[in-house]
Amino acid sequence: MPVCKMNGCREQAVYGGSDWGHKRYCQFHGSEYARKKREFNERQKLLPECENFSTCRNKVPPGRERFCTECQKQYDARVAAQQIEDERIGDLHRCQTVDHLKWWIEKWVL
Ligand SMILES: [Zn+2]
Ligand SMILES: [Zn+2]
Repeated sequence: MPVCKMNGCREQAVYGGSDWGHKRYCQFHGSEYARKKREFNERQKLLPECENFSTCRNKVPPGRERFCTECQKQYDARVAAQQIEDERIGDLHRCQTVDHLKWWIEKWVL
C-alpha cells in the first residue's frame, strides 16, 4: 500500500489527481494541498500584471511595484546602462579644452 507523500505521515495514500498535484496523499494532507493550491491561485489572480505586458504575461509578486522579477532585472540593467551613457555624454558636454577632451577619450574610448 502506498503511504502519504507528506513527511512523517504514515496514512494510506489515495490518488487525488491534478487537484493534488498528481501526488499521492492521505485524504487529510491531500485536501490540505488542494486548499493551499487554491489559495495560492486566488492570490495570484489578485496580483497586478507586469507592466511589460506587450511581451510578458507574468504577475507582479508582492513587494514589487511594476514588473515581474524577470522584467525588473532587465529594467534595472537598462537603467544602469542608461546612467553610464548619460555620464559619458555629460562628461563630453563639459569638455571645454583639448586636454579635457583627451581626458574624456582616455576615460570613455580607450
Ligand atoms: Zn498524510
Ligand atoms: Zn514581466
